[in-house]
Amino acid sequence: MKELLLVRYGDLVLKGRNRQSFVGAVNRLIREKLAGLDVGIDFCHDRVYVRLDNADPDEVIKRLEYVTGLYSFSIMTKTATDFASIASKATELLKEETKGQTVTFKVETKRADKTYPYTSPEISREVSGMILSGMPNLQVDVHDPALVLTIEIRRDGAYLFTGQIKGLGGFPVPIAGKAVVLLSGGIDSPVAAFLAMKKGLETELVHFESTPMTSIESVQKVIDLAAILARYAPGNNIRLHLVPFARIHEQIIANVPDSYLITIMRRMMVRIASGIRKKTGSLAIVTGDSIGQVASQTLESMACIQEAVDDLFIRPLASYDKLDIMAIARKISTIDISNRPFSDCCTVYVPKNPVIRPSASLAKNYEERFDFWAMVQQAIDSTKILKIRAGERFDIESLGLTVEEALK
Ligand code: ATP
Ligand code: MG
Repeated sequence: MKELLLVRYGDLVLKGRNRQSFVGAVNRLIREKLAGLDVGIDFCHDRVYVRLDNADPDEVIKRLEYVTGLYSFSIMTKTATDFASIASKATELLKEETKGQTVTFKVETKRADKTYPYTSPEISREVSGMILSGMPNLQVDVHDPALVLTIEIRRDGAYLFTGQIKGLGGFPVPIAGKAVVLLSGGIDSPVAAFLAMKKGLETELVHFESTPMTSIESVQKVIDLAAILARYAPGNNIRLHLVPFARIHEQIIANVPDSYLITIMRRMMVRIASGIRKKTGSLAIVTGDSIGQVASQTLESMACIQEAVDDLFIRPLASYDKLDIMAIARKISTIDISNRPFSDCCTVYVPKNPVIRPSASLAKNYEERFDFWAMVQQAIDSTKILKIRAGERFDIESLGLTVEEALK
């Protein structure tokens, strides 16, 4: 009884050429995510119909839940276009839906086939009268009904549905442009990456790894997180830039007082990220910072870190509480990976009293103690790029003993 899936883009505020690129991008994602399933896809003006030939509707919806820019789905059932057939099919559908409970409802009709001999209000009126005569548990409420039965009259038949399943929303990747995302192995930054993608940003992931000071498992974590994020990307793959950070890390520990360690480390990270941003033609740097979460995420800290470069920063989680971030991490299945107990460069050596209100001029003084520019440039030049595919495990441990070796 489930023949067709109606997929909605939502209210498009975009007009003209923007609209065209929106629709082009979202349709490409739909085609890619449904590849291999026995379905037909019809792209219409402001919606898409997926013919569920031999495909399981739940599987189709599960895949479309990775398409950014889709607002909702409705599973439709088909019948002949005469009133008796529509009313009988509708009754069947509503009986299944209401299970005998008293429910308020209304009928809405959309007449896609303009040659059909009745108007939409006429169809709604006639059909709801016929349904009501067989279902005393239904009460008409045209203003605020609990259940809406929608009838779409098309050339090849009448399609009926009740209810909508929510999609991701946002915009299709990559219409919003490109950004680099600083991805640690923590809970926050994968969520920030996801939210950036949801807004239609194509992302290049950047991770600073300090092996052998930190464990190889910390890099594996980031690779596994990237494989989850790749599900939302066009082509189902995403690029992960692994920056060798150990040398700079050592120099910072040797030269910078404890309280400024994290501040300087972050300033070095954003300098390198800025170089990668330019190299990849990206427009912004995305981080998982959330205001006040830790000492390095006070406004003063963020300002002091950002002061090191001229780039545009986007912090999708700035105003989120940790619990809300965790709820998203759970929903996108990154939380279990993030919770694996391996330290990355920021947790390997945690200063006792990190500065809460760092000053840029003090930070600069400390940075003058070692020749960091050469090291920053070298880190940019020797960054390795991995192409991570959704659903494929790239296992660094089975490949070699060090990140360096594994990547060769
Ligand atoms: P997360 O859970 O994302 O690690 P966090 O709460 O632990 O965040 P911090 O460790 O203060 O926060 O890091 C703030 C942000 O800096 C991270 O969200 C991430 O965007 C970036 N970052 C930190 N460490 C790294 C790293 N090793 N590689 C890439 N980005 C990093
Ligand atoms: Mg972290």
